[in-house]
Amino acid sequence: MDLFPYRTRKNQRAIMDTINKILNFEEDFIFESGTGSGKTICTLASTLSFALKNNKKIIYTTRTNAQQRQVIVELRQIRKKIEKNRDKIFGLGIQGRANMCILARNNPDYVKGTSDELSKLCSNEKKKVRSNNKQDGCIYFRRFIEDKIKVDKTLDWIKNELPTAEETIEYCEKYQICPYELNKLLVKDASIVVVPYVYVFENMIRNMLFDWLSVDEKDVILIVDEAHNLPDYVRDLFSIQLSVWMLQNCVIESDKYGNPTLIKDDLTVSDFCKILIDIVRDLRDTYVNNIFENGIIRNNLDKEDAFIPTNEFETEIISRLKTTSKKFYDIISDLIAYGEKIQEYKQKKGKLPRSYIHKLGVFLEFWNNLEDNKYVKLIVDSSEGKNPRIEAYCLDPSIVNYVIKKFYSSIHMSGTLEPLEEYRDSMGLSIDSELVSYPSPYSNENRKILYVSDVTTKYEEILKDKEIIERMKIYISKICTIFPKNTMVFFPSFNYLSKFKRDFNFENLNRNFYFEEQKMSQSALMEIVNEFKSSGLEEGKCATLFSVMGGRISEGMNFPAEQLEIALIVGIPYPKPTAKQRGLQRYYELKFGKGWEYTVEAPTARKLLQSIGRLIRDEKDKGIAVIMDKRANRFKKYIKDLHETNDLINDIELFMNKNF
Ligand code: SF4
Repeated sequence: MDLFPYRTRKNQRAIMDTINKILNFEEDFIFESGTGSGKTICTLASTLSFALKNNKKIIYTTRTNAQQRQVIVELRQIRKKIEKNRDKIFGLGIQGRANMCILARNNPDYVKGTSDELSKLCSNEKKKVRSNNKQDGCIYFRRFIEDKIKVDKTLDWIKNELPTAEETIEYCEKYQICPYELNKLLVKDASIVVVPYVYVFENMIRNMLFDWLSVDEKDVILIVDEAHNLPDYVRDLFSIQLSVWMLQNCVIESDKYGNPTLIKDDLTVSDFCKILIDIVRDLRDTYVNNIFENGIIRNNLDKEDAFIPTNEFETEIISRLKTTSKKFYDIISDLIAYGEKIQEYKQKKGKLPRSYIHKLGVFLEFWNNLEDNKYVKLIVDSSEGKNPRIEAYCLDPSIVNYVIKKFYSSIHMSGTLEPLEEYRDSMGLSIDSELVSYPSPYSNENRKILYVSDVTTKYEEILKDKEIIERMKIYISKICTIFPKNTMVFFPSFNYLSKFKRDFNFENLNRNFYFEEQKMSQSALMEIVNEFKSSGLEEGKCATLFSVMGGRISEGMNFPAEQLEIALIVGIPYPKPTAKQRGLQRYYELKFGKGWEYTVEAPTARKLLQSIGRLIRDEKDKGIAVIMDKRANRFKKYIKDLHETNDLINDIELFMNKNF
């Protein structure tokens, strides 16, 4: 409490008390507290207070850079509160090398590098600087080791200002000093380090961070922000893919670098890769494109993935090569060795040390050794035949629970984490973990959530009743024309959004409108978001933004006050019934007996709540959300204040008259 910089609001004292209690007992805490309820500052203030008294450090991990910024901004507020002892509060925002390496940021070849490639590149650049050749190597590292005055000045500036990672990068770019190296120096002085998830859950990167910190995990408290993202993040981090595109790049690379032979003289790397391309395409033809029913094979155009039998890929390779398992392992070792030679060569030439052949060797090694019970093996074709791939998809995010258990205590929080048991079970956290779901601190008067029952996005019903889509369009048109308020329309996917875009009459809206697009750059996205926001703030103006649930806008952006007052949710964002999804559901059914609840219902409810959550960011905010799908009533246990309306326009009008 002594570090909390604001007047406490509802639930905040309770959150801080619980954090204090669990830290005293070295336990784990999983909690949900609505968006805008101030959970970041509560968690920061109480954890920091404990850490300073008990000589612990904090790793605060976030999914996005925007969340990281928010933590640093709150840390500055804490510092202001204890002005006399301000130096005690020092925290550092660290991002990956792709953002912090100035050399990479300014080179179009390097900027595409993975963390591993950039790490190799950086070692080599530093070696060149140390080799005494004044002209060679990274200039930002040279300045870092040669200009002590500038380095000291920058270190003082960082300690004094508590900049965000972006501000540090900007400052360092101006003075031509490597921010990554500066952070390495500073990190051991920080009580709190704010990092992306990868710094905690990727083994090599975590080991590096702990080397810099020079502390044991047992002396560090872990905070996971927006924790509802973590299970999927871990699944993706531990999943691997091999696509036809990548194999074609292996062929190009092998042809360019001498096309060496493998095991026998008549099999070159390029021949081997072409055999793999054929196998991937044949698997696609067998399992994705065709359905065998009643003794007849027919094409299935709707399917995008399918399971492949556990050993089918490797058995097919061995059989087509007419070789043995032992020789197949020799091939993998050779691929890795050739790939390393290519990486070294490129590095010497000052290029990004990327080798597709190396990636192929690493993939095959991983594929052959993975724990089958935690993975499903898939053949996927989501690009209409252009680039099929095989994939080993990790089903079990508790694969990282040994990492979390090493920490002194861990705190996992989100605005949408219910059911908390699902998160605890998925991540394999202790059954004794403290689980609390805090009620919304805001008055129900300010927010209304309605649903209508005469529309749905359920495929079978749309086929039966052609009027459903028309009714939805009428609802959207009417709401946008009758109520001059900034409105967002969320669709279940980009596919739905583009279908809607094709035949909706936008002229009727009589206001500005914007679309989120899947491949939009971050800056282009921010441009439309900012234009949308400013429409809401201008007297007599308003706009509509068409977006998707589970996207960058619905999961991570704030729209306080007039920036957003109506949220229209088109349909229920159930996951697509792909083989991957079915594998996940089956795994959770076998492990917990809750396949549907944990893998379909709960993630869908979170997407709905995240979109609705854009409306209310503080106690003064007001807004109305409408779910346009009769199936919304299935989510009443997650969306407590959900009500059906039989007269939507009238009910919105009543709410508006009462609140605006
Ligand atoms: S020293 Fe810094 S700027 Fe230079 S290559 Fe390494 S990370 Fe990049």
